Amino acid sequence: MIKVGVTGGIGSGKTTVCRLFEEMNIPVYYADIEAKQLMKHDKELKKSIKELLGKEAYHRNGRLNRSYVASIIFNDKEKLAQLNALVHPAVGIDSKKWFAQQKTKYAIKEAALLVENGSYKQLDVLIVVTAPVEMRIKRVVKRDKSDYNQVKRRIANQLPEVQKKKVADYIIDNSGDVSLISQVWKIHRKLME
Ligand code: ATP
Repeated sequence: MIKVGVTGGIGSGKTTVCRLFEEMNIPVYYADIEAKQLMKHDKELKKSIKELLGKEAYHRNGRLNRSYVASIIFNDKEKLAQLNALVHPAVGIDSKKWFAQQKTKYAIKEAALLVENGSYKQLDVLIVVTAPVEMRIKRVVKRDKSDYNQVKRRIANQLPEVQKKKVADYIIDNSGDVSLISQVWKIHRKLME
């Protein structure tokens, strides 16, 4: 089993690319979605989050109090880093288990921060999806109906694409100039060799 990572900045097209791999029957672990699941259901993780952010981090019915958590981490970078330091290892363990269960020649973990937190080193192959910043902002604004400047600021806070490209095994150009399907297909064929 070859462990493949797909990463890229906000709005680069990670999910779009992974949907194409899924079309080729390649299983994909979406780290963001799984992280949310773990925050809801993993007892150890829930306990640590309560210790870090307070009991209010969860509603009485056991669900994550998203607005409370957001209100803390938006205003406190250190708390955000501490929360990530709890969630990322839990996702790391969970994705490792998931990879071990897959039966295909390769499987994919899709995550925004594979390079930032060094977790790409636990994978065999790294694919970085890229697109010009302006295009990414416009796509996210359209998708989420979010504020242009807010998306721009979130992108400015991320590691620049150039740093991610340096450690990539494959780079997918999602500017629209080169067919996305043919790029995905070429990588798929290589990985299936
Ligand atoms: P995020 O980091 O915010 O989760 P992402 O990297 O997963 O984003 P996607 O959600 O795949 O990015 O793409 C962002 C938006 O841009 C989506 O609405 C998607 O449909 C659109 N999009 C992606 N690629 C293209 C493309 N080549 N042409 C037009 N629209 C695209």
